[in-house]
Amino acid sequence: MYDCIIVGAGPAGATAAYHLSKAGHQVLLLDAAKLPRYKPCGGGVSPQVAQWFDFDFSPVISVKVRKVRYTFNLADPIEAELPAEKALWMVRRDEFDYFIVQQAQKQGATLWDGTKAQGIENHGDHWQVNTTQGPVDGRFLIAADGARGVIAKWLGFTRQYKLAAALEAEPRLEVPEEPVIHFDLGLLQQGYLWNFPKADGYSIGGGVFRSGTQRKQDLRTPVADYATAFDVDASTVQHFGHPIFIWDGPQVLHTHRAVLAGEAACVVDPFTAEGIRPSIFSGMKAAEAIAQALQGSDTALTAYTHTMNKEWGEEMRWARRLARLVYQAPALAYKAGIKRPSSTLTMAQIFCGEVSYGEVAHRAIRRLSAGMLS
Ligand SMILES: Cc1cc2nc3c(=O)[nH]c(=O)nc-3n(C[C@H](O)[C@H](O)[C@H](O)COP(=O)(O)OP(=O)(O)OC[C@H]3O[C@@H](n4cnc5c(N)ncnc54)[C@H](O)[C@@H]3O)c2cc1C
Repeated sequence: MYDCIIVGAGPAGATAAYHLSKAGHQVLLLDAAKLPRYKPCGGGVSPQVAQWFDFDFSPVISVKVRKVRYTFNLADPIEAELPAEKALWMVRRDEFDYFIVQQAQKQGATLWDGTKAQGIENHGDHWQVNTTQGPVDGRFLIAADGARGVIAKWLGFTRQYKLAAALEAEPRLEVPEEPVIHFDLGLLQQGYLWNFPKADGYSIGGGVFRSGTQRKQDLRTPVADYATAFDVDASTVQHFGHPIFIWDGPQVLHTHRAVLAGEAACVVDPFTAEGIRPSIFSGMKAAEAIAQALQGSDTALTAYTHTMNKEWGEEMRWARRLARLVYQAPALAYKAGIKRPSSTLTMAQIFCGEVSYGEVAHRAIRRLSAGMLS
């Protein structure tokens, strides 16, 4: 009998496994994939996550990037530079995620990779998870199985999630000595294109982050056009599409002896599509809640729902408003917002958790509304 079974060894599940094991609990971490596994992702990570762990992430940071370059429809470029302490981490997800898993194993977590959860049974005081390696029992369950996961459904959640879509390719190429993060607004409707550098290549992709619009859009052509701008022939590189579950308002994230974490809890920022930091945050908070529940707290899981809705959801309320404004009128947003020299620093401060999204969104909405009126 494990204290907790965690399904999914992405950032959310691995983080929960790390913190629960460190607190002395018996944890089983399951992943359908053999680790390390590939996850379609730009791999841009906020340095804020370092605060939530007591180990050093340096071995899996491919590059730290201070330069950001924007274009609108491949033209009208603008460049900004971040202070060193706000440099964004660029990671390869197979390395980054597995690194956290390995830290959890060092704390005593048991890993069953290549093991798929095929069903769950509620046995009152514990959950039985039926896996491709047979059944296994845990007093608590964390569903951290990502946007393609099914555990939330099995647990009886019938939420209305907002679906976004992204496509990316990761050509391995020689990159310039001074790495630069690139974004383009305008070439893709209701989203953006990115080129995130790594030490040995790029992650080039595009995402459509307003629900309902993603099905109508062809992502492949804009991603290919964008890749050409960096002398990459997209037809020679494999492309990976993936859904994204964006935050769409307050949600219940707990049920009987179980919680949802990471993208299974629809944590992704609807403006930036940032999912790694909130997945890690929710994994950490889920671990805290389950540790308290294991010590007999009856309210810990409810408190987890409140914490996520308050500490992350409140922020996302503003991110959603900002997304609506920016993606509806990208040309104006580019001119009146993104091109402002202070904008990149402000976004980096949000990304680093130093200023509240609400504060900044208020300012930006006022400015953009004034721009629209004039
Ligand atoms: C193209 C793209 C680009 C992105 N770029 C960025 C970015 O640059 N920065 C950023 O912050 N976010 C980015 N995101 C979002 C980010 O990738 C996700 O939000 C993040 O991976 C979610 O982490 P997670 O731990 O919840 O789930 P995941 O990382 O998806 O992990 C879930 C795990 O669960 C396992 N699993 C699923 N079902 C089962 C089962 N039945 N049994 C056992 N295991 C199972 C899977 O194998 C998987 O390993 C991007 C997303 C996409 C699609």
